[in-house]
Amino acid sequence: MTAAYEYETHEYDVVVVGAGGSGLRATLGMAEQGLRTACVTKVFPTRSHTVAAQGGIAASLSNMGPDNWQWHMYDTVKGSDWLGDTDAMEYLAREAPKAVYELEHYGVPFSRTEEGKIYQRPFGGHTTEFGEGPPVQRTCAAADRTGHAILHTLYGQSVKNNAEFYIEYFAIDLIMSDDGQCQGVLCWKLDDGTFHLFSAKMVVLATGGYGRAYFSATSAHTCTGDGGGMVARAGLALQDMEFVQFHPTGIYGSGCLITEGARGEGGYLTNSEGERFMERYAPTYKDLAPRDYVSRSMTMEIREGRGVGEHKDHIFLNLSHLPAEALAERLPGISESAKIFAGVDVTKEPIPVLPTVHYNMGGIPTNYHGEVLNPQPGNPTAVVPGLMAVGEAGCASVHGANRLGSNSLIDLVVFGRAAAIRAGQVVDPKSPNPELNMASVQKAFDRFDGIRYAKGAIPTAELRLEMQRTMQADAAVFRTDKTLKEGVEKMTAVAGKMGDVSVTDRSLVWNSDLMETLELTNLMPNALATIHGAEARKESRGAHAHEDYPERDDANWRIHTISRVEGNEVELSYRPIIEDPLTTEAEGGISLKRIAPKARTF
Ligand SMILES: Cc1cc2nc3c(=O)[nH]c(=O)nc-3n(C[C@H](O)[C@H](O)[C@H](O)COP(=O)(O)OP(=O)(O)OC[C@H]3O[C@@H](n4cnc5c(N)ncnc54)[C@H](O)[C@@H]3O)c2cc1C
Repeated sequence: MTAAYEYETHEYDVVVVGAGGSGLRATLGMAEQGLRTACVTKVFPTRSHTVAAQGGIAASLSNMGPDNWQWHMYDTVKGSDWLGDTDAMEYLAREAPKAVYELEHYGVPFSRTEEGKIYQRPFGGHTTEFGEGPPVQRTCAAADRTGHAILHTLYGQSVKNNAEFYIEYFAIDLIMSDDGQCQGVLCWKLDDGTFHLFSAKMVVLATGGYGRAYFSATSAHTCTGDGGGMVARAGLALQDMEFVQFHPTGIYGSGCLITEGARGEGGYLTNSEGERFMERYAPTYKDLAPRDYVSRSMTMEIREGRGVGEHKDHIFLNLSHLPAEALAERLPGISESAKIFAGVDVTKEPIPVLPTVHYNMGGIPTNYHGEVLNPQPGNPTAVVPGLMAVGEAGCASVHGANRLGSNSLIDLVVFGRAAAIRAGQVVDPKSPNPELNMASVQKAFDRFDGIRYAKGAIPTAELRLEMQRTMQADAAVFRTDKTLKEGVEKMTAVAGKMGDVSVTDRSLVWNSDLMETLELTNLMPNALATIHGAEARKESRGAHAHEDYPERDDANWRIHTISRVEGNEVELSYRPIIEDPLTTEAEGGISLKRIAPKARTF
């Protein structure tokens, strides 16, 4: 069948898909250099999930005490449980202060110290003296609405620099040449049902994470891994998808996030005996140990019968000992969330919390310039011409097996900026755009049309729920051979039902049924890659806690998982991590000995 749809063609040097923190920082950087730049987004830019980021953005500014980028880099390496790419982690930590000062100059209204410097708070896993010293105050914050402040500032600056926005346009598929170059992207305009074919010398995927593959997640309903879906359909790879971060403090029931900044400001967790149990698991850093560690400790307490509440199935987060003024000044947003979603007055009562899916460490593999990789045997870092990925959609990889709190916002701006710098080098605005591969355009329309007229038996919402429940049960905080094997079988069956999905609304204007079905076709490959990668990885590392293989196995598993998804099948291969930093110790960098793997304790 060939579907015939009319469309309008747009030509740009660069098209950025996504207007969260990473997409906007990339868009702004491209536009500032005079590249003709379009930013396409399915939601209004300032409604992107970045707006919900509360706690802050990490950079070693040393405003509150001694700090340096080498300590930040060390913490990131250790936080990643030695799975990140060292060059990218160095780039992140080194460029972080520059990127934050840029944000300040663009107009982000950071909270301030008495002397007027940017205020910084402690966050889990951020330490001094290469993990030997006390916690450091490294996380720059605008109260507990940091993402909101960053997003509004970057949007304003992008508009000022003449970037063109295509708002409420849904990107359907990438347009690829026969020899593997990305040439553009096909989009559906949600409010009038027209189609728009964007031709570009560079496409940047900044589509965010896929938290909604799970039943309980802190992320917005729009976090459906659309970039990963498009990449998988283009025959390209996803990386390290088994590493899914559970945030320790989602509000019990709703999953709404209570920022780690709450513990940074002095909050602590207790069990049914009123015990501050983190002191037992992490004697040094206690409640400020990294997220994977705290989430596992909470789960152990609940399993051993020390959970709170009627069903003994959650934990308390205590803030009521903190001065009411501090709560009002530093954590006003979460005080409000606790009231709305848990009926709790944080100045008087503890908040009921539970580990909740929060962040995807895995994603589209890139180098530290943001260029997408298509790992080949013998060439694990082969670059896909014309395609970049940044933000949570990408995997540079700076978070490895576990991301430190406040290291995502800094990842967004550092790599959004890096992508713009690289595009300035490789995109020639004077050269013509590549001639679009019409077979690829037709393929995208045919897929769209097939879904639009899907006449199966299963409503989208039902199939999505089945996927979410499977992922929640079988790819959880703790995993076993048995749950993972069952999970693979169940997810293969669930994804197999995609062909029997039912779409009831055939219209093209504000058709949320159709849009959610397209999103489900994107969630599926992400979910499949996650459970397959997890099933294959016979060790415990970072967020992947495997009860049958409780130890980290560096000899066999200090490698990136590469997955290629076709239909409901997943092909796995592996690529080595990048061990070498960008600079040597003699050049002021960090020594290899310093960052050599060792046991990860807190
Ligand atoms: C509640 C919450 C709090 C957090 N707090 C912090 C924090 O304090 N510090 C920190 O470092 N990290 C935090 N994180 C993590 C961090 O906020 C996210 O990882 C980050 O904001 C993701 O940004 P992004 O630019 O990758 O994508 P997003 O902000 O998720 O934006 C995705 C963009 O892609 C667009 N898009 C997606 N699919 C399509 C499509 N098919 N067509 C067109 N457009 C599309 C969307 O419209 C949107 O503009 C938090 C996360 C959550 C969920």
